[in-house]
Amino acid sequence: MKKVISVVGARPNFIKIAPIHKAFQKYSDDIQHLICHTGQHFDNKMSKVFFDELQMPKPDYYLGIGGGSHAQQTARIMVEFEKILLDEKPDLIIVPGDVNSTIAASLVAAKLHIPIAHVESGLRSFDRKMPEEINRVLTDHISDYLFVTEKSGLDNLQIEGIDSSKVYFTGNVMIDSLVNFLPHINKSEILKELGLTKGTYVLATFHRPSNVDEQVSLSKLIDAVNRISTSRKVVFPIHPRTMNNLKKYRLSDKLNDNIIVLEPIGYIDFLSLTKNAELVVTDSGGIQEETTFLGVQCITVRDNTERPSTSEIGTNHMIGTDFDKVVEASKEILSGKIKKGKVPELWDGKASDRITEIIYKSL
Ligand code: UDP
Repeated sequence: MKKVISVVGARPNFIKIAPIHKAFQKYSDDIQHLICHTGQHFDNKMSKVFFDELQMPKPDYYLGIGGGSHAQQTARIMVEFEKILLDEKPDLIIVPGDVNSTIAASLVAAKLHIPIAHVESGLRSFDRKMPEEINRVLTDHISDYLFVTEKSGLDNLQIEGIDSSKVYFTGNVMIDSLVNFLPHINKSEILKELGLTKGTYVLATFHRPSNVDEQVSLSKLIDAVNRISTSRKVVFPIHPRTMNNLKKYRLSDKLNDNIIVLEPIGYIDFLSLTKNAELVVTDSGGIQEETTFLGVQCITVRDNTERPSTSEIGTNHMIGTDFDKVVEASKEILSGKIKKGKVPELWDGKASDRITEIIYKSL
């Protein structure tokens, strides 16, 4: 029996590992798949709801790392995860995405000579001020299996000199979750509960430090959301990081009445809100992909994206962080100037099958 440990820490990780766990069930006579949750995101709304809704088992290990600076978080994960690796001696670890858990677990495994599979490899924003970019680049360079979601990832890894024999174009596991749970998403009652009609509202989410950590940019962002809400109802589920800063800078009562302010919401309801929105305005990575798959217009409030296929092929509009331009672009899209997108290659709901088959055959 071979042993594989997947390491998850934050909201998008849970969504990426759920379909991989499911796909491993086919090989359960030969591969034991364990899940280690580092506890980067730990509360019900950012963590437990995803395990429940995505039908994942309780993690085999929970490290309870919590918040702290990047160094504190990374170091604590390394110390705790090393004990697990020494004890379990897995044949492979899987790390999805680009959070601190991704690089921390990879560094520990690399030094213990345990092979690493990076899911969502090769993405690059080329912005080293983003902590995620550092995590992505370093993880890729110490990984043994690099599972790539879109063509740009193949180019990036080649340019960085990574041996192509380690690189596999397998598609997008985030879309696997979406495809797997579409029947549930279609049954969600969230629109009814919020009194919304399909195709008549805007969904907004923000959590990137560059948008929400400083008072000046956060207040401009809130002003932009207010301006968009003069023409459409805006649904705004607020990420804990953003909420903390809204409170810190006393901006929480500045949001006007046409905005439905919510705490972070569960996966099924959030995807229902995404699928039925007229427009999504976000700085999230995963949401750029989900809107592209669903053919929903998306404005990305960032100066770059590590997921260029979403704007080159999909329905993503890269507008930048000039908030006047964001409001202007929203007006244009809401008045009908929309992009007709296509779904990128291999975003077909089968990426996890490809990934687990490759792992099964090579372990
Ligand atoms: N998401 C969710 N509830 C929310 C906001 C987002 O379920 O209130 C989901 C979203 O559909 C996507 C994932 O969380 O699947 C994206 O996570 P996030 O934006 O936190 O991270 P990023 O993708 O930017 O790393």
